[in-house]
Amino acid sequence: MNTASLQEEILRRKKERGVAVLAHSYQAHEICEIADVTGDSFRLAQAAQDLPQETILLCGVRFMAETAKLLNPAKRVLLSHPDAGCPMADQWDGPMLREAKAAFPGYAVVAYVNTTAETKAESDVCVTSSSAVAIVRKLPERDILFIPDCNLGAYVASQVPEKNVKTLHGGCPTHARMTLADVRRAREGHPGAEFLVHPECPPAVVACADFVGSTAAILKRARESTARDFIIGTENSIAEHLAYECPGKNFHVLSKQLICPNMKLTTLPDVLRAIEGKGGEEIAIPPEIEEPARRSLERMLELG
Ligand code: 13P
Ligand code: SF4
Repeated sequence: MNTASLQEEILRRKKERGVAVLAHSYQAHEICEIADVTGDSFRLAQAAQDLPQETILLCGVRFMAETAKLLNPAKRVLLSHPDAGCPMADQWDGPMLREAKAAFPGYAVVAYVNTTAETKAESDVCVTSSSAVAIVRKLPERDILFIPDCNLGAYVASQVPEKNVKTLHGGCPTHARMTLADVRRAREGHPGAEFLVHPECPPAVVACADFVGSTAAILKRARESTARDFIIGTENSIAEHLAYECPGKNFHVLSKQLICPNMKLTTLPDVLRAIEGKGGEEIAIPPEIEEPARRSLERMLELG
């Protein structure tokens, strides 16, 4: 089947079977085209709560499907590809966080949503890249233990100087690979282009940006800006989506290396198989961590 016929078949089958497809913006364009909702991690978490369908198919990575399941315990939640994990989420687990909490008593534990359900259960509140600054600002505690992403933590610290934001270790291997040499090369290749950067990139790269924001914020900025040329400092799918959406503008990737291999695992045939009940993975959360993990997410939705 070619792409268009596969997409048609997916649209027909998801309607027939009552499946809502949620796709993170780092998914390939052809997958976003057949989704009911696309967006950043915060938008997907919000949207998961309001869907009439009984089954949610999450095209993205495991922590996103776990988040949808935690917020919708009565629904069937499927992950599009069983191997689509997030290496950053796997850098921390419950015992590690309990040890860190013992070392930093009195700190509010703020977990990036890119964590396992077990890590969320040990945290006070979750945040996404679009909500981290606002949520940290609103917390009553001055001392914040921010895990796992040290780059996002450093960005939050720079935006909320009244708080003591402590980071330990961890980060996105895809964004963390970006260097000042990449910035120099891209700026020289596209003089005058607006440089939009995700805060998962290293602080030195973020410091060079004209605009810093989550995937959703970068998309919005690129649509609304009067500039014609842009350098996109986040996963390369964002440049692909923007090229379709804004044909009069030029989108250049910061580096060809900015590709998340886990986000790219899901294909249209995977989506069809999952909808037909022949693929994907149904998400189950261990009952003992369900309640505390949900509380951290609900607090994020309230404060964000
Ligand atoms: P946002 O969706 O919050 O922009 O995060 C990007 C990301 O790395 C998701 O895995
Ligand atoms: Fe995880 Fe980074 Fe991929 Fe996002 S881009 S899923 S943080 S590895």
